[in-house]
Amino acid sequence: MEKISATITLKRGREKPIRHFHPWVFSGAISAVSGVPQPGDLVAVEDSKQQFLAYAYYNPHSQIQGRIISWNADARFDEAFWQQKLERAVASRRLLNLEPATTAYRLINAESDGLPGLIVDKYGDYLVIQCLTLGIDRRKEMFIKLLVELEKPLGIVERSDVSVRRKENLKETSGMCWGEAPPAELIVLENGHQFAVNLMEGHKTGAYLDQRVNRALVCRPEAVAGKEVLNVFAYTGGFAVYAAAHGAGLITNIDSSAEALMLAEKNVILNNPDRPEDEYIQGDAFQVLRHYRDTGRQFDLVILDPPKFAHSQRDVSRASRGYKDLNWLALRLLKPGGLLATFSCSGRISADLFQKILFSAAVDAGRDVQIIEPMSQAADHPILLTFPESAYLKGMLCRVW
Ligand code: SAH
Repeated sequence: MEKISATITLKRGREKPIRHFHPWVFSGAISAVSGVPQPGDLVAVEDSKQQFLAYAYYNPHSQIQGRIISWNADARFDEAFWQQKLERAVASRRLLNLEPATTAYRLINAESDGLPGLIVDKYGDYLVIQCLTLGIDRRKEMFIKLLVELEKPLGIVERSDVSVRRKENLKETSGMCWGEAPPAELIVLENGHQFAVNLMEGHKTGAYLDQRVNRALVCRPEAVAGKEVLNVFAYTGGFAVYAAAHGAGLITNIDSSAEALMLAEKNVILNNPDRPEDEYIQGDAFQVLRHYRDTGRQFDLVILDPPKFAHSQRDVSRASRGYKDLNWLALRLLKPGGLLATFSCSGRISADLFQKILFSAAVDAGRDVQIIEPMSQAADHPILLTFPESAYLKGMLCRVW
């Protein structure tokens, strides 16, 4: 059982977010640290009047010095404590009834599941873990043991090759951490569609699992059958596979990564062996869209699923201009009555701001735009009400006149 090694006292007036169950203790909110906690140790958090608030793990090297794991003063930090958290998260995924049509989904979503910094994605018989905080990293072996007991995977891959680890004074690392290695192209199912994923080298933990629901919604048969689809930021063909399955006409995929496009084509063919040739264009999306605008190409459906443009508050205005430019170009490429599915995965760009950006793009493009479906992240990436930062993906399916 782990002991509480120190107490963090907050400055007067800085306890409110913690009382409201927000899980981050910023360095600027701390007035004193009693004892000498080691990085990653468990500490108690109290207000300026020495009233108990919560327990957290501690990292003096991070701007977020405390990450809260319990608000219960009587909590005991034995293995059963962590096991219960994992079980709770896994049980809520069972509730979603994803299997057997979907075999790749998120099991543990960090703060949203009460485990700040721990991501675990399931890909068939394999698990991929990402340790984003020191508190998780230090307890990695225990989490691996518990996950093996809980999920009985064939193997567990670590994909902690993410730059945010540097903010926690951790190095980037990746590789096998338990059991046997997955094949280089592991086949998983998403809503019954097959996808080859590379868990060792693919983006994030191998795939963008958060778009599962939106792929089905945007690429429904009524929207794509016989239609010309432009799939911008295609990656390994998430949207293209659904569009092809539902009878799309020509699908034009754009991505800057040649490797991703090769896998996209493979995935489309895997599900639709008789598919006529689609386009797989390697290049910068902005340049390719400008070229299409200049040459007068038109589409029935344009999907814009760009990477994160805003990594911090400082990036917000530059990112907003990027989103506007991109959406403005896409609007110019749509036939009257066509559909635009536009996304932002930047947590710093709120749904409200994203809608305003689209408004301004529509005004400049001179197009009437109706939002027909607002979109968010899939339910296996739950949003914690007390942690609005966990709502990062937003999208709008629009009819464009
Ligand atoms: N829509 C995909 C996920 C897209 S992730 C899916 O459903 O799975 C974002 C993609 O944008 C990545 O594949 C990345 O290679 C690509 N990308 C990043 N910058 C780009 C640019 N400037 N032009 C084109 N593609 C870009």
